Amino acid sequence: MNAMPRVGVVGGSIGGLTAALVLHDLGCEVDVFERSGTALEARGAGIGLHPMTTRYFDESSELDTTLVEIELPWLQFLSGSGERIYQERMSYRFSSWNTIYRGLVRCFDERRYRLGSEVADFGQDDRGVTVGLKDGSTHTLDMLVCADGISSGARAKLLPRAEARYAGYVAWRATVPESELAPASFEMLRDAITYCLLPSGHVLVYPIPSLDGDLEPGRRLANLVWYHNYDEGDALDDLMTDRSGRRQALSLPPGTVRAEHVAWAREFADAHMAPPIAEVLHRSPDPFVQVIYDIDVPRMAFGRIALIGDAAFAVRPHAAAGTAKACADAWALRDALRDANGDPVAALAGWEPRQLALGRQLLERTRDMGDRSQFHRSWVPGDPSLRLGLYGPGR
Ligand SMILES: Cc1cc2nc3c(=O)[nH]c(=O)nc-3n(C[C@H](O)[C@H](O)[C@H](O)COP(=O)(O)OP(=O)(O)OC[C@H]3O[C@@H](n4cnc5c(N)ncnc54)[C@H](O)[C@@H]3O)c2cc1C
Repeated sequence: MNAMPRVGVVGGSIGGLTAALVLHDLGCEVDVFERSGTALEARGAGIGLHPMTTRYFDESSELDTTLVEIELPWLQFLSGSGERIYQERMSYRFSSWNTIYRGLVRCFDERRYRLGSEVADFGQDDRGVTVGLKDGSTHTLDMLVCADGISSGARAKLLPRAEARYAGYVAWRATVPESELAPASFEMLRDAITYCLLPSGHVLVYPIPSLDGDLEPGRRLANLVWYHNYDEGDALDDLMTDRSGRRQALSLPPGTVRAEHVAWAREFADAHMAPPIAEVLHRSPDPFVQVIYDIDVPRMAFGRIALIGDAAFAVRPHAAAGTAKACADAWALRDALRDANGDPVAALAGWEPRQLALGRQLLERTRDMGDRSQFHRSWVPGDPSLRLGLYGPGR
């Protein structure tokens, strides 16, 4: 077997960390370059988990995944007035972005997790890849894995024509300690992923671990995701102009959404959402907003350089599979490098077709799910095609 390559990973979030861990375990020397100067912030928001997101914990770490996830036995739909109109046994797993990130970062060598290392440029030739950081330093590697997310600078350089497409709606998000909900609301929401269909879209709520990782019902957080349409132009510009008057492109973090928008969101919740769900929005001190974009790419492999996760395809969140796709890209890269005896160019050429196919099917499926919910209003409780899943509904 050839020596395994020296690998640089751009971006130290869930996709980048998973790639770094599995390539390190294969025998690669791996450095992660993360722009943020501190360990990534407690984002607090929930994520649906698929086996691929927790595969590293399950196969390669001592961590018991039952310590980071909440398994919910029910899927339910509530009407706007709060009656349960549909219920089905379902086994979905949820956690918080923060809990998964913390678990992964603990598994990686902290000296090689280089915080405050923003990649400014990179180039490659027959012998390797050179990465230039914003601080002026350069690193020479055999292979570069770009996991720099939806606003990927690597994608902009490698595929300048791949543009993010606004889906026509945003996600309002909110979390509140379950202990702050009225007892009847807590009981209604505690064991289920709960949906409510709305005049323009839908809202869902599920419990996630508390910020310090508590999984005990009553001590967790209730996590809300509400998809609402905003026309591109004035309506979206106004929402995305934060409290300091700056127009933000992708998201308004907690504490930055203007008070009039928060007040409007709460009024809308009172008028249209099942009361236990509206209560989550009311009691959350700092609802925040993420604009929903998706991105299609024609390529993911460029000689010795790969795009993975949201840096390649970014998909709408309706299948709850964004992190699972990033991790699937990472694990497949490990297999390809092993099968190519450590030759990065051969590995990436073999890796790309399947990951393009995976990204495309997820992109198309989540576009369809989003359009049906937000614009055609053809979501029907219990429709099996709406199930969460990376490889297909419920898979
Ligand atoms: C409303 C909403 C709900 C979602 N729900 C779910 C869900 O339930 N389940 C799920 O699996 N997914 C969900 N997702 C998607 C998920 O958050 C993303 O798919 C996932 O975070 C992508 O991971 P990533 O590692 O590819 O990129 P990111 O998490 O975006 O990380 C990119 C990293 O790269 C770093 N970076 C960027 N540029 C540079 C640079 N030049 N140099 C160095 N570092 C750099 C950034 O600081 C960041 O840490 C949701 C998304 C949204 C918007």
